Amino acid sequence: MDIIVLKPDTSEENIRHILKKLESKGLKTNVSQGTERTIIGVIGDTSKVTEEEEDAIRAITGVENVVRIVKPYKLASRDFKKENTEISVNGTVIGGRKIQVIAGPCAVENRTMMVDIAEKVKAAGATFIRGGAYKPRTSPYSFQGLGEEGLKYLAEASKKTGLPVVTEIMDPRDMDVIMEYTDIIQIGARNMQNFRLLLEVGSVNKPVLLKRGLSSTIKEWLMSAEYIMSRGNHEVMLCERGIRTFETATRNTLDLSAVPLLKQMTHLPVVVDPSHGVGKLDLIAPMAKAAVAAGADALIIEVHTNPEEALSDGEQSLKPGLFAKLMQEMKPVAQAVGREI
Ligand code: PEP
Ligand code: MN
Repeated sequence: MDIIVLKPDTSEENIRHILKKLESKGLKTNVSQGTERTIIGVIGDTSKVTEEEEDAIRAITGVENVVRIVKPYKLASRDFKKENTEISVNGTVIGGRKIQVIAGPCAVENRTMMVDIAEKVKAAGATFIRGGAYKPRTSPYSFQGLGEEGLKYLAEASKKTGLPVVTEIMDPRDMDVIMEYTDIIQIGARNMQNFRLLLEVGSVNKPVLLKRGLSSTIKEWLMSAEYIMSRGNHEVMLCERGIRTFETATRNTLDLSAVPLLKQMTHLPVVVDPSHGVGKLDLIAPMAKAAVAAGADALIIEVHTNPEEALSDGEQSLKPGLFAKLMQEMKPVAQAVGREI
């Protein structure tokens, strides 16, 4: 809300009224009277002026337009912090030169499969393991995850491989138990605007992987990151996982343009999930490579030893062999854009 453009012929009285309103919010003003137009420059910390207050200023007689220069997502914005945020998890850095790869099953199904998949993705070069213990399923009759038992298997797989864990939280009531077992807390697409949950993860001392909502704009997504950061937790990474469009040939439409765009708008690391992004096995490798080329800091990829029998997302899970092949294929792409994988 940094510049207010007034309508021609706005009376002095109206101008005074507008200035008074702004000053009552603790802001300073600078009126610049041109031949055609009068413009009010607003000086001070305007980031705390809410969109509702901005709309209210728009409603004052004489105001033609309000142009906001300071972003509503202050802490997350590149203007606030110029350098890239690097998030270190036991020494493995997300947001640095090396692109990190998070791999594992959609859901933790049992101990053997979790440990087996973890060992295989580690051998292929993955640097984190993933697996859901609390699953956000469309149907209440689908497999909902193993809960704490699943977290224990993840911890066991992590201990065996040395790879840190990424797992999803759906309910603030699970926070204590999840904090015990995970290294990065995932907020799923369906919860991107669960503001109470965002505030909860904002109050803990663990990095957060914030997935983009199914139909969320980039601005809404950054506002959700802002919710987390506003509580003090600045270790947030944004994960593009595809959005809903009219297209039905793929599960979602993977918005890779979000990657370079976010790099301009925010200092936070950007992660891409090609698995949920396209939902089709054959498309995952090309989109993973495209994500690397676009500047992603990390990838999150679903891998399963027996996709046919998977309890969720089998159709988009790579077998370990294909995952290992993809890891090799991504290397020259990373090198071409000045990164390594
Ligand atoms: C997941 O990563 O398993 C998941 C449920 O993803 P999303 O929230 O992006 O649908
Ligand atoms: Mn999944």
